[in-house]
Order: sequence, then structure tokens, then C-alpha cells
Amino acid sequence: MEPLSISIIGAGPAGLSAAIYARRAGLAVTVWEKTAPGGQMNNTPSIENYPGVPDVGGFELGDKMRAQAAGAGAEFRSSEIQGVDLSGERPMLLTKDGGHECGALILAMGASPRKLDIAGEARLAGRGVSYCAVCDGYFFKGQDVAVIGGGNTALGDALYLSGICQSVTIVHRRNEFRGEAYLSKQVIAKPNIRLLLSAVPEEITGEKKVGALRVRMLEKGETQELLLSAVFAAVGSVPSTHLVRGKLALDDYGYILAGEDTRTSHPAVFAAGDIRKKELRQIITAAADGAVAATMAAHYLN
Ligand code: NAP
Repeated sequence: MEPLSISIIGAGPAGLSAAIYARRAGLAVTVWEKTAPGGQMNNTPSIENYPGVPDVGGFELGDKMRAQAAGAGAEFRSSEIQGVDLSGERPMLLTKDGGHECGALILAMGASPRKLDIAGEARLAGRGVSYCAVCDGYFFKGQDVAVIGGGNTALGDALYLSGICQSVTIVHRRNEFRGEAYLSKQVIAKPNIRLLLSAVPEEITGEKKVGALRVRMLEKGETQELLLSAVFAAVGSVPSTHLVRGKLALDDYGYILAGEDTRTSHPAVFAAGDIRKKELRQIITAAADGAVAATMAAHYLN
């Protein structure tokens, strides 16, 4: 019989940090990830606030964390978890190859990009509508694009795209940014970034690919049509908790109710990173959660 181990779902900073700490606690660790390790870091062009590495690409930081976890002996399985059975004492993961019982389970699935929920978005997704500037920006080299949102992601994406595209218009629904001042200063200083504030996106148009974005200007009540080739949505994220809905206590927004100790409503299940109800969702807080979750899981197993 397979020895009981800790399973970690998700290989972003929370999951990878948990894997490193769990291995150092002497536990067998399996990390389950459906795509490439790194999580949302892979969508972040440049990270300037992770201590010790003042300016690092998100992909590069994720790759280093993965290599560290693999070097510590964590096993990586590239498989989408299709279900989680939490009805018994031991969590059971359901994959296309069958069930996998674990001694303890760390949920670190993070969050996925929130949709704009406007006309044309779904139809033109992948044809100029994108949720990842780092992944898709290069396809729009020398062209005019828009970034929707006013948080750190939108500001960082606009800066990144300004180095590739002819012009970037930031469309934000309020007249001040939610993102940090150091980023907005850089944005304002870029000659090819234009700000369209108090502006709400209403429709993305184009037959086979994006051709324009219609926005409503809140102060004047009029609409404007921006001719462009791509719309990058950066309007926050929603927790990836569909596997545990109805099985663990969640808050009204779908985040797992777990405190700083990462304990959930199931004794063998711990929640780390953006998936947990918390005040600050950053790489460093996700990594910190991973360390706590692995330590709590080790205590639980002992
Ligand atoms: P966020 O901070 O939640 O910002 C989302 C932005 O989208 C807000 O400006 C919001 O407007 C706007 N928005 C939301 N729904 C919208 C809609 N339906 N239509 C139009 N606009 C909409 O999300 P985020 O920027 O992805 O950042 C998430 C977390 O990650 C934050 O804690 C952030 O600091 C962190 N982060 C850090 C870094 C970094 O440090 N390098 C990089 C990226 C993200 P309102 O402002 O009006 O609500």
C-alpha cells in the first residue's frame, strides 16, 4: 500500500513553499498541478516587493521555487484533480487515474482572473481578449491595446505592455487607482500610456478579432469607442474553490474560512495562499501560509 503523504493541490508560491517546508519536516509530499508551476506569478511581468530579490520576473521566481521544492524531494504530478472527497477522516483526491488517499491535504489552488462580464468578451476570448499580459502581449507588438482595472495587476500589465505595444490605454472605473503609488508614478511617466478614468467598459466588438472597446464615461454619461487590437482584463480574481464548495466552510465570496493557522473545517485539510480568507494577498503572504500549512499538517500527522 502507498504510504500516506501530504498532498498539495496547486504549485503557486503557497503550494511550493508548503512543499519545501513539508519535505524539511521529513514528510512525503505530492504536489498536484494542472498546468505549469508558478501560479499567478507566471502572469506577473516584474516583482519588486519580494524581499531578497528586488527585481525578478514572476516566471523566474516561480521556477526557482519549483526547483527548490523538487530539490528537497517533493514529487510533482501534472494532473487535474477532478474531485475531493472529504467525507472521511482521510481526504481522498479523485483524478482520471483513480483515487489518491492522503494523510493531510493542503489546498493552494489560488485564484483565477475575474471576467469583465460584458458583451463580446467570451466570444473574443483568445482573439484579442486576454487575462495575461505576459502570456499574450507579444502578439500585439506595435499595436494599440487597453488594460482594464486599477489595481497592481492592471498597472503592472500596462507598464509591461508599454514596452511592446504602440499605445496602452488604462480603462478604470474610478478616478483613482487601487494599486500602489510607486506603480502609478511609473505609469503616469510613460508617454505611451493613456489613462481613461471614471470609465466603465461596456462592450468589446470585432468580427473575428478585437477591433474596438466601447466605454461609458461616468462623469459625462457619454460613450466612447476605442479602436484597438486587444483588451487585457486585470480586474482582480476569484478563488478556485469549486472542488470544495459544500464540503468546507467558505465565506460569501467563496474563499476558504481558515485563520492564520490555515486550519479549515476539516481536521486534515489546510488552506494556504490566495484561496484563504485573508487581508493581504501577495506572493510573500502566500509563501508564509505555505510554511504554516506544512507545519500544521506535520503536527496533525504526528
Ligand atoms: P485588485 O487589487 O482587486 O484590483 C482589481 C481592479 O479591478 C480594481 O481597480 C477594481 O476597481 C477593478 N475592477 C473590479 N471589477 C471590475 C469590473 N467588473 N469592471 C471594471 N473594473 C473592475 O486586483 P489585482 O490588481 O489583481 O491585485 C490582487 C492582489 O494581488 C492585490 O493585493 C495586489 O496588491 C496583489 N498584486 C501585487 C503585485 C505586486 O506586488 N507586484 C502584482 C499584482 C497583484 P476598483 O478599484 O474600483 O474596485
